[in-house]
Amino acid sequence: MVAPISVTILGSTGSIGQNTLDVIARHPSRFVVHTLTAHSRMDLLAKQAFDSKAAAVAVPTEAAAERFKTAWGSTLKRPVIRVGAQALVEVASDPASQAVMAAIVGSAGLPAALAAAQAGKRVLLANKEALVAAGSIFMAAVRDAGAELLPIDSEHNAIFQCLPHHDRASAPTGPAAGVRRLILTASGGPFRNQRWADLAQVSPEQACAHPNWSMGRKISVDSATMLNKGLEVIEAHHLFAMPPERISVVIHPQSVVHSMVEYADGSVLAQLGQPDMRTPIAYGLGFPERIESGVGMLELALAGRLDFAQPDLEQLPCLALSFQALQAGQGACIALNAANEVAVAAFLERRLAYTAIAEVIHATLDWQSGQPNTSLSSLDDIIALDERSRSAARRAATG
Ligand code: NAD
Ligand code: MG
Repeated sequence: MVAPISVTILGSTGSIGQNTLDVIARHPSRFVVHTLTAHSRMDLLAKQAFDSKAAAVAVPTEAAAERFKTAWGSTLKRPVIRVGAQALVEVASDPASQAVMAAIVGSAGLPAALAAAQAGKRVLLANKEALVAAGSIFMAAVRDAGAELLPIDSEHNAIFQCLPHHDRASAPTGPAAGVRRLILTASGGPFRNQRWADLAQVSPEQACAHPNWSMGRKISVDSATMLNKGLEVIEAHHLFAMPPERISVVIHPQSVVHSMVEYADGSVLAQLGQPDMRTPIAYGLGFPERIESGVGMLELALAGRLDFAQPDLEQLPCLALSFQALQAGQGACIALNAANEVAVAAFLERRLAYTAIAEVIHATLDWQSGQPNTSLSSLDDIIALDERSRSAARRAATG
């Protein structure tokens, strides 16, 4: 019998983390859980660690470690508890695990995702902010360390599935042969038919009520503003070494077609399925084999029809700003992402109006374009610009 694959999940208590544990639990002889990490919800982390028989957990502070111990309660042997941000980097590169699911939200997940790539793991990448901020060093690390990179974001997973067959997932240095264009689908979110100017009073609850997908709160807001699709265009640019002008976005409200690849001969290949993240997660875990995910059948006759429309950039300022940042370069992409994280957090805490998210991003990109060009070739350089961008965004949000 083949030995099971040992998997570490960064951000196990989140939406992607929980779905990953769900898929793993369906394959007890194929996968074992090594380490689980979480920033909050220690009660849930303790339950997950208990159920999955995790060998270790990583938590942010000593206080969180105490909460974990209380929540564990049982007299059964506790998992090893590792504490602090550095522990995330250590567990991501721990030789005891072969695969790492990078499912922390935001650029906070970058150091650990990068460490997993540098350690030559199979990296299941959900944390798109890591690629937006650090695409070139991340992809170089995958190549240099011989890591495997499986995109988990549903659009990128769909594209990966539609690209010419490969047995090994690595970091390409140029567009795949014969590919003309990548077409990312976007549901358009809960405010698809509304004008941006009419959305000032939108509440966090309304913004998080996504019509098709159940996700964490930050990405739900990003899906509503469509900044998420902007991050995904940048993500696709890095993952598939594709020039920005060969990546397009089409609105597809039913979220059945998860994305498409157009070839030189006019063929367009699409991946379809229910909007359930367990499909891309199972694909990444099982690759190159197909394994059971728990996702039901796609009944196209029930869907009835599939619609497609051109996005209106005039009404989608966050998407327009993302295209602008991608054209401007990596510094602008770091500023875009950092500003958005600050603005969305403020919006979720009801300190910022929904439509002001775009204003904060705009102001931060303006600030960044006036900064002298500095090197962005190391993780430290990137984190420094990320932090300065956050300060600029906070000034814009309160100013
Ligand atoms: P979530 O908010 O549900 O979960 C985030 C996880 O990260 C939690 O376990 C949390 O404890 C941990 N975390 C939060 N802040 C942290 C910090 N500062 N340091 C360490 N850990 C921290 O988020 P999610 O919806 O699961 O999304 C995770 C990532 O996957 C995001 O980058 C998101 O864009 C991407 N993604 C999510 C979906 C989805 O369907 N949810 C789809 C595609 C991509
Ligand atoms: Mg997506």
